[in-house]
Amino acid sequence: MSGVDDGNSPDHNSAGTVVIGGGLAAAHCAHELRKGGYGKPITIIADEDAVPYERPPLSKEFLQGNKTADEFRPFPEEWYAEASVQLRLGLTATAIDTANKVVGLSDSTSIDYENLVIATGCRSRLGGRASNMTGWDLPGVHTLRSLADSQALKEQLVEGRRLVIIGAGWIGMEVAASARAAGVQVTVLTPDEVPLAVAMGTEFGSHVARLHIKNGVHCRFGTMVNGITLDPESGLKVMTSTDAVAADLVLLAIGAVPNNELAAEAGLEIGTGVLVDAQLHSSDPSILAIGDIAEAFNTTLGRSLRVEHWDNAIRQGKLAAATILGREEAYDWLPYFFTDQFDLGMEYVGDRAADDDVVLRGEMDSGEFIIFWLRKGLVTAAMNVNIWDVNDHLRSLVGKSIAAHRLADTSVDLLSL
Ligand SMILES: Cc1cc2nc3c(=O)[nH]c(=O)nc-3n(C[C@H](O)[C@H](O)[C@H](O)COP(=O)(O)OP(=O)(O)OC[C@H]3O[C@@H](n4cnc5c(N)ncnc54)[C@H](O)[C@@H]3O)c2cc1C
Repeated sequence: MSGVDDGNSPDHNSAGTVVIGGGLAAAHCAHELRKGGYGKPITIIADEDAVPYERPPLSKEFLQGNKTADEFRPFPEEWYAEASVQLRLGLTATAIDTANKVVGLSDSTSIDYENLVIATGCRSRLGGRASNMTGWDLPGVHTLRSLADSQALKEQLVEGRRLVIIGAGWIGMEVAASARAAGVQVTVLTPDEVPLAVAMGTEFGSHVARLHIKNGVHCRFGTMVNGITLDPESGLKVMTSTDAVAADLVLLAIGAVPNNELAAEAGLEIGTGVLVDAQLHSSDPSILAIGDIAEAFNTTLGRSLRVEHWDNAIRQGKLAAATILGREEAYDWLPYFFTDQFDLGMEYVGDRAADDDVVLRGEMDSGEFIIFWLRKGLVTAAMNVNIWDVNDHLRSLVGKSIAAHRLADTSVDLLSL
């Protein structure tokens, strides 16, 4: 599908804005540009052959068969043509010539830009030398990043099959829950002591571990994986430092790697992602970067960070549009994310550090609680678990000085804090 520029735009001959990457951030950038009255051409270069979609359902509702792809597109397919946004699917941007403002494309053509927005996102981290793991590329070993990946995995989630998940981060644990719903036997292998240890710390990680164990996930913490083998007779085996775990399929869920290469080769400054200021300008002022790929300066936190979450992709897509439209807005919001696993739903807002103090409000065993993180008496982050419609209030508490005993005391009205 290609949205065709109908020529109605007031500045049809201008090079306009080119967005590289057809994900969530790209779609929202284009949408916000048109909403803000941008009349020049907009082109999205997307290597996937799919109209932009949201990724969270890929490990949850879509994988469980409870949603179809058309139910999680940020904008319907028709919108792109209606809004004169050229959606060029199945095409890869291969080079950026910053001096001449031209993007080279995989079909040997090129496209000029006035403004370029890089929204190339992340890819799944693979095995090999980087992680010292062999056999990651064998048949039956999956990764999960795209709709096609999720579709391929879903087809293999058949009751009674043995799925071994390597990695206990968000995607690993969400897939574990979805696979259990399909009656699959699930083993999770991780060198960490609890799931989500790096992202959330041990308190919440232990809760997630108990939840998964209660739902029949075989969790093997403190387990190092060396490689995967495939024997024609006995099938896949995941080799740990102590034994071999038989599998019908394996999910490699050991993190994501930002697709920095195109920007790096163009000479843009790179940190953990493309370095951008609070208006999302890269080291080349006519090139912006957004979403998972951007290491952006946050004016509220006073430092640069790269965030791999849905909310950030949407907001930075809109902020890039605001910058192009000449509005004076800045990257000033706190990181936010959510997950759903079995009967646990949670939202997190803020910027916790590993050594922050942890304050629990409510009983973890009840399944409904809030965790606050504090640094030097100030709230740095908060998370509501199975308690809804409070996240905006929790957001307003971040940065405030509130006594830990009041945060923990459920007899103190949350809204009065
Ligand atoms: C399975 C899964 C579950 C998730 N669940 C949650 C969740 O529950 N909560 C949450 O907050 N976040 C979640 N996330 C994270 C969230 O989806 C991402 O933060 C968000 O998709 C980032 O959007 P983006 O537009 O920056 O990048 P992406 O969505 O990754 O899109 C980038 C696109 O650019 C394409 N591309 C790359 N290079 C090129 C090139 N050279 N030319 C053309 N195209 C290119 C890529 O193929 C991709 O299609 C999840 C992610 C995954 C994968």
